[in-house]
Amino acid sequence: METKILEYTHSTGMTFRPPHYMQLPRDILIGRGVLNELAEVCRGLGFHSSIFILTGRKVYGIVTHEIIRALERSDYEVEFSFIEEVHMQSVQKAKTQIEELNPDVVLGVGGGKAIDVAKLSSTLARKSFISIPTAASHDGISSPRASIKGLKEPTSIQAQAPLAILADTEVISKAPYKLTASGCGDIISKYTAVRDWEVTHNLKNEYYGEYAANLALMSSMLVMKNAKLISGKSEEGLRIVLEALISCGVSMSIAGSSRPCSGSEHLFSHALDRVAAKPALHGEQCGVGAIIMAYLQKRNWKMIRETLKQLNAPTSAEELGIEAEYIVEALTLAHKIRPERYTVLGSEGLTREAAEALAEVTNVIP
Ligand SMILES: [Zn+2]
Repeated sequence: METKILEYTHSTGMTFRPPHYMQLPRDILIGRGVLNELAEVCRGLGFHSSIFILTGRKVYGIVTHEIIRALERSDYEVEFSFIEEVHMQSVQKAKTQIEELNPDVVLGVGGGKAIDVAKLSSTLARKSFISIPTAASHDGISSPRASIKGLKEPTSIQAQAPLAILADTEVISKAPYKLTASGCGDIISKYTAVRDWEVTHNLKNEYYGEYAANLALMSSMLVMKNAKLISGKSEEGLRIVLEALISCGVSMSIAGSSRPCSGSEHLFSHALDRVAAKPALHGEQCGVGAIIMAYLQKRNWKMIRETLKQLNAPTSAEELGIEAEYIVEALTLAHKIRPERYTVLGSEGLTREAAEALAEVTNVIP
């Protein structure tokens, strides 16, 4: 449910807005070699003896084994487990492991799956969690929300914000550039998400947080402004993307929901995940969604398209590797994905003809 503006009456008889809860990360380290600081960060947070790591098999060979060795050298007792699927079963299994091992803290090391599973399982087991992304592909690396399959919720659910984030550019720069471009699509899509939120606030009196909205929007603008630097695969460009992704996650913490980061373009991406034979990356789909929704919002959709092109991110069905018919179907379904989340798609959604015309005029389908 979205947060509604409600009032409550204090014992003094005065009327107030209800309290607003924000959970934010405490330590954020971005840069070359920051993983060398991990043991120090853990100690600083009051964790002195045991650590449990959730990680992917491939990532284990690239970086996790080194992390484990370094932590052991710093006298930590370390256990780890592999995450294969972002499914509720993996979360339950990890929760049981955490309860049995009772570590000081849980680390999620990976591109997305391991972080999502670590985030939710640590929340359920009432342990803190540290996020160590190995790719800059979406804002889940810093958000308090987890995307898990096999839940009633089609999108993401509230978990907890990471207590610390260590984004080592030396590690992340080794990931394929396609993942960074996808992260840029996720960030740029806040351009349409924030407008959806603003309009819903005006139409439905839904809670709207200006700080959260502006933080998400600023991240989107900064990535658009620095598209050339980012596509040049420079260290500086990657840092801009990471800072923007982390800021987007923080904006969700401030808002208390995914509203500043997820509007009609995200509904379109979630719909594609359902209907497409082989969906593309989350951020790639959100970027294309942002082109389409910016058109519907009567805004500068061409700027979004040009910027994505500059970033070598997909701007069409063909580049997403998704057939045109699935794009049209997803557009007609998007408003049903999360009916309580009002967007430019309205309550009725798009007709097939309108969806087709929209995808054509924005050059998403031929
Ligand atoms: Zn997203």
